[in-house]
This record gives sequence, C-alpha cells and structure tokens, in this order.
Amino acid sequence: MSDVLVVSEHRRGELRDVSYEAIEAGRELADAQGGDLHVAAVGGDVDRFAEDLNREGVDAVHAVANGEEFDHNVYQSAVGALLEKTDAETVVVPNSVNGLDYAPAVAEAYDLQLVTDAIGFEYDDGLTVTREMYGSKVETTVDVDGDRFLLTVRGGEWAPAEGVGDASVESVDVDHPDSGARVTGFEEVGGGDVDIADADVLVSVGRGIEEEENLELVEELADALGATLSASRPIVDNGWLPKNRQVGQSGKVVTPDVYIAVGISGAVQHVAGMKGSDTIVAINTDPNAPIFDIADYGIVGDLFDVVPELVDEFA
Ligand SMILES: Cc1cc2nc3c(=O)[nH]c(=O)nc-3n(C[C@H](O)[C@H](O)[C@H](O)COP(=O)(O)OP(=O)(O)OC[C@H]3O[C@@H](n4cnc5c(N)ncnc54)[C@H](O)[C@@H]3O)c2cc1C
Repeated sequence: MSDVLVVSEHRRGELRDVSYEAIEAGRELADAQGGDLHVAAVGGDVDRFAEDLNREGVDAVHAVANGEEFDHNVYQSAVGALLEKTDAETVVVPNSVNGLDYAPAVAEAYDLQLVTDAIGFEYDDGLTVTREMYGSKVETTVDVDGDRFLLTVRGGEWAPAEGVGDASVESVDVDHPDSGARVTGFEEVGGGDVDIADADVLVSVGRGIEEEENLELVEELADALGATLSASRPIVDNGWLPKNRQVGQSGKVVTPDVYIAVGISGAVQHVAGMKGSDTIVAINTDPNAPIFDIADYGIVGDLFDVVPELVDEFA
C-alpha cells in the first residue's frame, strides 16, 4: 500500500488543465495501490488553488506558499518535503516544461524510478506504463520494478478530475535552500499571452493555405466563431505565426471542444497534439488525407471556397 502525491501546475495566476488530469491519473494509482491521494499546490495563490484542487477522491491538499511563478528550487524542495511528510512513494507530475525541469532532480534525490511522458498505465501488482516513441508511430510499455516511482503524465490523456472533495487542506512551510538562482519574472514567447491549450474552439491552419497573405481568411473564420487560431508546424517554421500557436509533438497538446483543421494533412506529429479534441472537423482537397481518419466531420473541398462560405454562415 502506497500513498500517491500529485503536483499541480499553474501559470500566470491560473491552474493549468493538466493539474486536474494528473489528479485523475493519481486517483487511479491510489485506488490500485490502496493508498491515499495527496495533491500539492506550490507557489502562486495557493489558498485558491488548494480549494480548486480539492476534487472527489483527494484525501489531502498541501499548500506551499512561495513566490508567484515557477521556480525549480522551490518545486524540488517542496516536493521533497512533502515526500518526507507524507507516506507517498509514488509521485505524479505533469509532463510539461516545468514538470520535466524538477522531476528528474526529485527522482534522483529520493531514489524514485522516473518514467516520463506516460499516456496510460495499468497497475496489477506492479506498474506498466504506456509511452509513445518515434513521433507516436510506436507504442511501448515499460514495466516498473517496485512501488517507488515518479511518473510525468502527458496532457490530454486523462479526463480531468471532477466533483468537489472533502480533503483536509494544510499549509506547509518549506525551507528552500538558496541555490543563488532567482526568478525575476515571466515572459511569454512571441505571440502574446495566448495559450492555445486553454481554447474551447481552435481554427488550425496548415500548408494548404499556401501564402502568408491568405491567413486573413482563417483569421476571419476564427473571429466569426469566437475561436483561437492555431497552426501546423510548417506555418510556424515559415514564421507566419508564432511558436506558441503550434499544435503537435513539438508544439502544444490541445483538447478543445472543437478543432477545425484547415488544409492540414494529419501527419502523426500533428495528430499527437490534437487527437484528444472532442469534435474534429477537417477541410481538405485530398479525400485520402489522414486527417479524415480521425475527423468527426470532413469537408472534401478547396479551403478557398469552403472557408468564405463558413464565414458567411457564422459571421
Ligand atoms: C520531429 C518532428 C516533429 C514534428 N512536430 C510537429 C508538430 O509539432 N506539429 C506539426 O504540425 N507538425 C510537426 N512535424 C511535421 C509533420 O511531420 C508534418 O510535416 C506537418 O504536420 C505537415 O503540416 P501540414 O499538414 O500543414 O502540411 P502538409 O502535410 O503539406 O499538408 C497540407 C494539406 O493541405 C491540403 N491542401 C492543399 N491545398 C488545399 C486547399 N486549397 N484546400 C484544402 N486543403 C488543401 C493538402 O491536401 C494536404 O493534405 C514534425 C516533424 C518531425 C520530424
């Protein structure tokens, strides 16, 4: 029997969706292992976060106040302190830039086996983790020895934990050793504050758009639908949209209610970032484009004809 500790994640004052997904993954593990589920809020508005993280199935929420934004040293020492304070031997962390920053250091310091980028697992007297390799072309399983491990879980693979829990909430003071490093602020990569991972509706544009000037057309569609504009990698590589708009393996994982792929072929590296969308609509001239394999609604047609009609319909 082992307790599970889930570490939540926030940015610019808001908890990220992957925090609730990590709680769900943690709850599955805690149920399988017959242990308690602990959730940590580290830094930022911890009291508010602790309230939001108190979902069904959570046994304890630990609030570690310290600074506003992510700080490697704070997270590493906070997670370490919580491992010592609780009976947790299993840690679940979002597979994000932040998570991947401190997870290996915690795993090394506390002798936990580290498995990154989990997309699923089974627990039956031991943990077997499912991961993807070679740009999602191959699925592999990893058998983990023993019950001391740290998993980083990919966003969009677990349903977010729901319901209101009745966990105890405890403020925890942690001494953070001074590493000499200081967090001086937060700067978004080019493209402003838009986080496509937070959008409910995404209009995503691909190489079928042909020219930068033509982006105006998909922008009009996004405006008409109240949607956010995202893109496949070639659009970002061309410098037509900033990197924070890229969906996919080397971009962001998104799970909107509606994802409209305009002139996108559906390469595995793109699909890896959007296959968790609730409803997928694809517009493509090629009826054999792989994007139609995962689309709920497909329009085989020229985007330069179809998109203006949609704008007329929804504007
Ligand atoms: C290591 C690695 C990481 C990668 N990471 C990512 C990633 O994060 N995200 C990502 O997107 N890609 C990524 N890629 C690139 C990926 O392999 C594809 O090259 C890319 O997704 C293709 O983008 P696309 O669908 O826009 O372009 P294409 O594959 O060129 O597809 C364009 C589509 O538009 C259609 N089309 C053309 N004209 C029209 C028209 N007038 N109307 C309607 N449809 C039209 C075509 O039929 C075609 O299906 C990565 C590749 C590698 C090797």
